[in-house]
Amino acid sequence: MILVTKNNNIAQKIAEKLDTKDPIKPVFVHDNRVALAGVKSLPEQILKELSQDIVEIITNHHSAIVSSRAFHPEDTIIKTKHTIIGGDHFVFMAGPDSIESPEHVLKMGQKVKSAGATILRGGAFKPRTSPYSFQGNGEVGLKAHRAAADTLGMDMVTEILDTRDVELVDFYTDIFQVGTRNMQNFALLKSLGQKRKPVILKRGMSATIDDLLNAAEYIAAGGNHQIMLMERGIRTYDNKYTRNTLDVSAIPVLQSMTHYPVIADASHAAGVAKFVSPLALAATAAGSQGLMTEIHDDPEHALVDGAQALTPAEFFQLAEKVRQIHQIVQ
Ligand code: PEP
Repeated sequence: MILVTKNNNIAQKIAEKLDTKDPIKPVFVHDNRVALAGVKSLPEQILKELSQDIVEIITNHHSAIVSSRAFHPEDTIIKTKHTIIGGDHFVFMAGPDSIESPEHVLKMGQKVKSAGATILRGGAFKPRTSPYSFQGNGEVGLKAHRAAADTLGMDMVTEILDTRDVELVDFYTDIFQVGTRNMQNFALLKSLGQKRKPVILKRGMSATIDDLLNAAEYIAAGGNHQIMLMERGIRTYDNKYTRNTLDVSAIPVLQSMTHYPVIADASHAAGVAKFVSPLALAATAAGSQGLMTEIHDDPEHALVDGAQALTPAEFFQLAEKVRQIHQIVQ
């Protein structure tokens, strides 16, 4: 529930008037708007008493408050050592699906950097459908990834799967990635809310837009406002020819609802290398503020997800086209 008010002290008044047997719900004030987080309605009596101060009552606002544009109309801009993310800036984050070896991640990093990427992606902890599939190289992978990013002057992003690994991953990475399977791992989101480092939050494969915003709110409510939302494809009724359905419409919709940057991952949406570029171009045209792309120099022998990996040359060509489209739509 959002009250538009003429009186900024109204938040205090409401907090005092709310039933104290119920834990007092946080009240957020911005720009003469007061949001009662977790309160669907106010008792008639309280509304009557405050009627002089209230201009408008908005009851159909989604429950994410800190993430909402209503309370933060300007875009959030995230600055890392080598990258500016958000607003009109366009970010390329690319690299192998998993960190295979120090030499390989360095080589892939060189390739993606030459195409314009400033963030080197790669997984050391891999969330695999089967427990018998390669699970990632763990800390050895993190070390190799960090070394490659430092050598190349790039930022590092890697996936965190487990609250028990937060400190370990934090030690190496510049940006945390929460994958589709963990989008509603609330313990993990809460611990990342305590960090002051950017987090990429990927949309759950069956998550609605409200689910995604509420997941972001878990991080934001902890005080970490460096959040990027990532559309990476959702399960629909026909995922026979692609791995997922890239929900292009989610990009402008999210941007209208939240001030956090919205970025697309066409690789996991397509699941098939030849469809990655068309989807990435579509996402850019829809206003995506960046792209995450998987590449591999020998996709057939990639340890994870070779079928969706672009070759370095394909990525180079894609990045050129993306820059042109971004110029037109920004
Ligand atoms: C990944 O980016 O490595 C990954 C596993 O992505 P997703 O969580 O979108 O499947």
